[in-house]
Amino acid sequence: EAFVSSPEQDPALHVLRHTFGYAAFRGEQAAIVAHLQGGGDALVLMPTGGGKSLCYQIPSLLRPGCGLVVSPLIALMQDQVQALRQLGVKAAYLNSTLTPDEANEIERQLVDGSLELLYVAPERLLTPRFQNLLTRARIGLFAIDEAHCVSQWGHDFRPEYIQLSILHERFPDVPRVALTATADAATRQEIVERLALHDARVFLSSFDRPNIRYTVVEKDNPRKQLLRFIRANHDGDAGIVYCLSRKKVEETAAWLKSEGIRALPYHAGFDAAVRESHQTQFVRGDGIVMCATIAFGMGIDKPDVRFVAHLDLPKSLEAYYQETGRAGRDGLPSNAWMAYGLQDMVLLREMIEQSQAPDEIKRVERQKLDALLGYAEAPACRREVLLRYFGEASTPCGNCDMCLTPPQTFDASVAAQQALSTIYRSGQRYGAGHLIDILQGRETAKVTERGHQHLTTFGIGKSVSDAQWSSLLRQMVAQGFIGVNEHGGLILQEACRPVLRGETGFMARKVRESAP
Ligand code: ADP
Ligand code: ZN
Repeated sequence: EAFVSSPEQDPALHVLRHTFGYAAFRGEQAAIVAHLQGGGDALVLMPTGGGKSLCYQIPSLLRPGCGLVVSPLIALMQDQVQALRQLGVKAAYLNSTLTPDEANEIERQLVDGSLELLYVAPERLLTPRFQNLLTRARIGLFAIDEAHCVSQWGHDFRPEYIQLSILHERFPDVPRVALTATADAATRQEIVERLALHDARVFLSSFDRPNIRYTVVEKDNPRKQLLRFIRANHDGDAGIVYCLSRKKVEETAAWLKSEGIRALPYHAGFDAAVRESHQTQFVRGDGIVMCATIAFGMGIDKPDVRFVAHLDLPKSLEAYYQETGRAGRDGLPSNAWMAYGLQDMVLLREMIEQSQAPDEIKRVERQKLDALLGYAEAPACRREVLLRYFGEASTPCGNCDMCLTPPQTFDASVAAQQALSTIYRSGQRYGAGHLIDILQGRETAKVTERGHQHLTTFGIGKSVSDAQWSSLLRQMVAQGFIGVNEHGGLILQEACRPVLRGETGFMARKVRESAP
């Protein structure tokens, strides 16, 4: 190896300082490096920006043989290899962007032992050709980056990842490290199972990102709310705005632009050239707001993203954590802001109920959605909810909307009864909008058509605002009093009985003016 330690120094520290130019290890890095260097397997759970790369790069340099890094992200591979070469490390990558000649040359270097680190795409690694090469090369370490890609529950699922267990079967003596920033207990378990890491030591770093301020606002006019949020907090800052659909991405970008904000759209429907150009502008440029679907963000290394906004609910709490984690990697104050409303919740429930997935999968999806709603409807500190989900205990953070402006609560027992009996009397099949029309006593076409102006609850809820009604309904869904059928209609659940009968009260949060 090129990096022989000076005898008076810890070799890992020597490499950290002399090759990478850093003064000290961060957090668990030193322990992880030592463990891998000694030949142990490891599962590394560290938030984005925590410094996962050094955890496998340094042991690869210290151990005899080449470190093999499996990564699904071609762009990231190229950036890392370029950076490593500038540091004098013999690094290379093998992926579909290389010509056959270039690939052959890298393969030759692998076999003759002149590489220290090789990044490979998983599909390439699994080819018989590459497997054969591996038997002829000396491998010092397998690093499986973005290990959560083995999980079928996440949106990053890569079928090839499941087959990576063959590395262990074929090369039982080569230490392996799996790394991810997605660390909920279920994903963690799946990684252990699927990659056969039962004996691996688990290194769990804190997932807290104290510089990110979490805020959830009640959706009322989301685009305007977003604009207000940006103008009030992020004039000229770079940020990401996530939307669910491509159409909404384009509309949002166009609207922000018309309001004088330097916004660009990004989704998988654009040509590669457009995507790349927008991405480069975002990374290199100052103060660009990227309106994007979740196709954008993985592997993008921009330290000064000052905010991540969600106009639609993310898929799960770990997706939310990942997506918001792209803000503030430089450690400076940043915002994670989300606008969320009853319709979002109903839509996601409906999607789960309507899907053809087996019950087992639906059950997991329901749990994931509940966890997400638990965050959006958090009665107290949002960070506590988020960290608890990752198995981490914490105390109120003082840097989220709930801590900064604690919500007011009120006795909503009567209002809850009114809403529940409106659902019951109208036949448990209508969505929130129609139910609120009934409660407010509005004779809309739909109301008169169904004869709902004759219901005893027609107009009994006039003293409560529409926004408060919709918040109450949401809180009752989150509490499990109300369910959603496969058509998005609200239905009563067993748990609502004591409230409906007046046996227990119901304290609810007051809606607030959507603070930025
Ligand atoms: P991750 O893969 O966990 O998202 P990276 O490995 O990309 O994180 O590291 C994030 C940033 O932190 C990089 O810019 C990296 O150079 C820097 N970094 C990592 N470890 C250290 C360290 N010990 N000292 C200083 N900077 C570090
Ligand atoms: Zn808090």
